[in-house]
Amino acid sequence: MRKLASIQRIRSLAPIPGADAIEKATVLGWQLVVKRAEFQVDELCVYIEIDSLLPEREPFEFLRSRSFRIRTVKLRGQVSQGICFPLSVLPQGTTIEEGADVTALLGIVKYEPPIPLSLSGIVKGSFPCFIPKTDETRVQVLGDLLQQYAGQECYITEKLDGSSATFYLRDEAFGVCSRNLELVEDAGNGFWKMARQLDLESKLKSLGKNLALQGELTGEGIQGNKLQLKGQQWFCFGIYFIDEARYASFDEWIALTEQLALPRVPVLDSAYLLEADIDSLLEKAQRRSVLAGARAEGIVIRVKQAGEHVSFKAINNEFLLHYGE
Ligand code: ATP
Ligand code: MN
Repeated sequence: MRKLASIQRIRSLAPIPGADAIEKATVLGWQLVVKRAEFQVDELCVYIEIDSLLPEREPFEFLRSRSFRIRTVKLRGQVSQGICFPLSVLPQGTTIEEGADVTALLGIVKYEPPIPLSLSGIVKGSFPCFIPKTDETRVQVLGDLLQQYAGQECYITEKLDGSSATFYLRDEAFGVCSRNLELVEDAGNGFWKMARQLDLESKLKSLGKNLALQGELTGEGIQGNKLQLKGQQWFCFGIYFIDEARYASFDEWIALTEQLALPRVPVLDSAYLLEADIDSLLEKAQRRSVLAGARAEGIVIRVKQAGEHVSFKAINNEFLLHYGE
């Protein structure tokens, strides 16, 4: 689970050229602007990530004009993500422990963009328990993991900003799911339309295996269609073998998507040796989409070694700044 607000240490503080009232702080792998001399290096604070919606109450009143939402901003040329408060923002008696999740304690929730009507569909039930939900952790909180996997061969795909879609076949039953729910077949629903358009039920049946295809549905009517694609398109980013309870390796993913003639998210590098450096991964994420001229949302990095599913994302900071996220 993502910790939107947690107790963290100020790792470093550095001056911002031309600014004397503010300075740059590093918390986890995030950089943000703080008031000068408000914090000391190594001091614990409450760090609140972007995408947080803060409650409408006193210590957060100054964020009213920004609808209490924490977004990526640029101040004096410095990208700033998240916000730091002194520990005194916590209710009295809170146990102070580095890394502790204080999201619920502070009444913070995540900002979620509204789901378009054409995708919401009719709910059949919760997301199947035999398939993992799609999710990617941000590289900024993964410093230790980067150290652990440094030098390992990875593949990098472009992250597409759409809506997660899972299509599965299990014991002859074909199912279609949005990010969090399974949906009843319905000709008006975008996920089901795509399933039929790509003939996924017969394609999966031709394999004779219990399997889930996971990918991103993007295009018109979805998340502002930032890449200005025609109609809607689906791009596979993962395959899950249900009976073996494991994800397909890179080679299996390529082979199966070829065999079934399925579109894949763009592969940007298929032999990237992982650098244990958050900033260089963020730099890699700062790019244009290969599908269109617009800014890419970012990249997803996966360790190739079979038998392991180590996967995370680096979001393009220019994308976040441009779209006010
Ligand atoms: P956060 O975890 O940062 O709070 P979130 O859970 O809404 O945000 P997203 O930013 O949507 O997550 O990132 C994860 C999603 O990215 C996955 O669920 C998947 O649907 C989507 N995605 C798009 N492109 C890819 C890709 N190339 N590889 C893997 N996932 C991708
Ligand atoms: Mn997530």
